[in-house]
Amino acid sequence: MIVPISKILTKAKRQGYAVGAFNTSNLEITLAIVRAAVAQKSPVIIQTSQSAIKYSNIETLFGIMTNLANTVGKKVPIAIHLDHGKDFSIIKDCIRVGYNSVHIDASLEKFATNVRLSKQIIKLAHRKKLWVQAELGAILGKEGLVKLKTGEINMEEMMTDPVEAADFVAQTKVDTLAIAVGTIHGHFKGIEKVDQVRLKKIANLVKVPLILHGGSGLSAPVFKKAIKNGVSAINIDTNLRIAFRNALKKNINTKTDMIDPRKILAPSTDAMQAEVEKTIKIFGSNNKA
Ligand SMILES: [Zn+2]
Repeated sequence: MIVPISKILTKAKRQGYAVGAFNTSNLEITLAIVRAAVAQKSPVIIQTSQSAIKYSNIETLFGIMTNLANTVGKKVPIAIHLDHGKDFSIIKDCIRVGYNSVHIDASLEKFATNVRLSKQIIKLAHRKKLWVQAELGAILGKEGLVKLKTGEINMEEMMTDPVEAADFVAQTKVDTLAIAVGTIHGHFKGIEKVDQVRLKKIANLVKVPLILHGGSGLSAPVFKKAIKNGVSAINIDTNLRIAFRNALKKNINTKTDMIDPRKILAPSTDAMQAEVEKTIKIFGSNNKA
């Protein structure tokens, strides 16, 4: 059932587990996330990127998410979140249609600009009693990785500074904070690390729930330590994409005469559900619904 994200994250922070924030862009992924939450009796955050919204239009995607949450998922707490909102018109659309939370990502701007832009969105969202996630420090993606390898940028410099983070939260009154502690968007086993000492320092100074991005590819012990050190939600996208692709490949390569899209896609939905369930158990949010 759709609930305010504050309910989900306040409880997670208090009880010391993390909630998975899983990205969706269609019916099958959303079904997989909601079915997994029900099977594990777990709260979940379902989130869409700006490009997912552009892919299928906001009302349709929001309709799929809320409808499944309130029917199939009626016994578990579910919140809908916008991931990496950079375009003010899309963020405003999400607030308008009824997302529970939006991420204003102005992390590439200077500190003062980031504060100013984040505050603008916080003002709009708080009027409707919605939560806002802001971001301090740059969480790298594929392009960032290339720059890291050539030495053009330094991972340490990209990370969130604990004292600055406390200042940022005090100035903006943001509800949750996405932090950069060494993870990368995508799947880069072996390169990604979590600077646990930095994370602990941030958690000591910042009292709002901390959000870890770029979680796909990290090992269970690293996740567990990050949660112990103060992370309350973890974004997962790539792991579901890989599960989807692998199951699809296997299915169409073995049953080559299939033409029913439902039969073609069902094993992918099941594989994503299994992946979400595995993740929920690592994060410790099972039986917390
Ligand atoms: Zn992210």
